Amino acid sequence: MGNFDMDEMYRSRGISKEVYTFGERILEELAPRFAEIDATAEYNQLKVIGAMQENRVSAECFNQSSGYGYNDLGRDTLEAVYASCFHAEAALVRPQITCGTHALALALMSNLRPGDELLSPVGKPYDTLEEVIGIRPSKGSLAEYGITYRQVDLLEGGAFDYEGIRAAIHEKTKMVTIQRSKGYQTRPSFGVEQIGELIAFVKRIKPDVIVMVDNCYGEFVERMEPIDVGADMMVGSLIKNPGGGLAPIGGYIVGTKECVENAAYRLTSPGLGKEVGASLGVMQSFFQGFFLSPTVVSSALKGAIFAANIYERLGYHVVPNGSEDRHDIIQAIEFLSAEGLCAFCEGIQAAAPVDSYVTPEPWDMPGYDSQVIMAAGAFVQGSSIELSADGPLRPPYAAYFQGGLTWYHAKLGILMSLQKLYEANLVKDSQLC
Ligand SMILES: *Cc1c(COP(=O)(O)O)cnc(C)c1O
Repeated sequence: MGNFDMDEMYRSRGISKEVYTFGERILEELAPRFAEIDATAEYNQLKVIGAMQENRVSAECFNQSSGYGYNDLGRDTLEAVYASCFHAEAALVRPQITCGTHALALALMSNLRPGDELLSPVGKPYDTLEEVIGIRPSKGSLAEYGITYRQVDLLEGGAFDYEGIRAAIHEKTKMVTIQRSKGYQTRPSFGVEQIGELIAFVKRIKPDVIVMVDNCYGEFVERMEPIDVGADMMVGSLIKNPGGGLAPIGGYIVGTKECVENAAYRLTSPGLGKEVGASLGVMQSFFQGFFLSPTVVSSALKGAIFAANIYERLGYHVVPNGSEDRHDIIQAIEFLSAEGLCAFCEGIQAAAPVDSYVTPEPWDMPGYDSQVIMAAGAFVQGSSIELSADGPLRPPYAAYFQGGLTWYHAKLGILMSLQKLYEANLVKDSQLC
């Protein structure tokens, strides 16, 4: 008879008894939070199934179209499913939207006209949007088309500067952009309720302003989404949460009929809009990924919370901290040394189902002023709903960690990261008692 014990199984994957036991002790304390996450996943699962049933998803929806893609049943039905699920009037969900930045650029460029102003009341937007807006000069930016930009920074502690926002809204303010997730900044991520308060505030000042929420990394983390609290548009990437790890490409925009139509006319062409756009055989993975997304997101959330609690217990500064509410799936851990950051990333890589045998090395990534190390053993290249980590090699040597298609894989990855720190003697025996 073989040995079918759990700790033996972890031992066979390279996790020592000390690390495994330490992890199990932390997990015991997390049971109530995990139960809450499971309840959110359950709620959102029903929401997705409901939207699929109401829109009569059928096997024909998985057929592929090519060429112009007129009357693509799968594509049109999927867009109806997204719209229903997120309680929006309309949706644009396409493989021709190449990534999150593209989806956001599309939403902005199609709904703003020369002379309009865009306002971010939550400080600096995600890095790649700086070039879209023209904060950093760039070919084809909004600035080149005569669209101006204004920004109101958050107050110390991350609160909205309501007075500053009131002063920044004027007759040219056409759109307000709110980023839900902190991305790679140090500010907190916003809860949907909090976003709702901000939307209500700006709409009281200017009722016809269009509010767009960058929803990247936020989908299905809570029961509500930004559309439920008054956003006119919500935008995200399918190689993050709503693709469920199965979508090989894609982005979405959901919102009012008018905003989505504008985006469709910009994505394809004036006059054509949503009528064209072949689905090239990806529809099954879009539907299936969306169906799985609530539980995939719950796995990623459990991983983030497990990592936060493990490393917080070991004395590292973690953002969000071990007990905070979650509004997205990103976890930052400050290792304070290059060795610590690299050991962490090596562990994440070593636990991957794909490319587990390679060792991540810091490299000079274009656009960064220091070397960056990345760990990802993903089925979809660049997918960050799959377990992945990266961080720049400069103080505070923070690892940004996210994803996990299954909780058990996320758990193995985190235990393996700790194992690597333990083997490098960066975590001592005494700390694991
Ligand atoms: C990832 C992300 C983006 C950009 O998405 P890409 O797919 O990387 O282009 C924009 N905003 C936020 C908050 C993100 O997390």
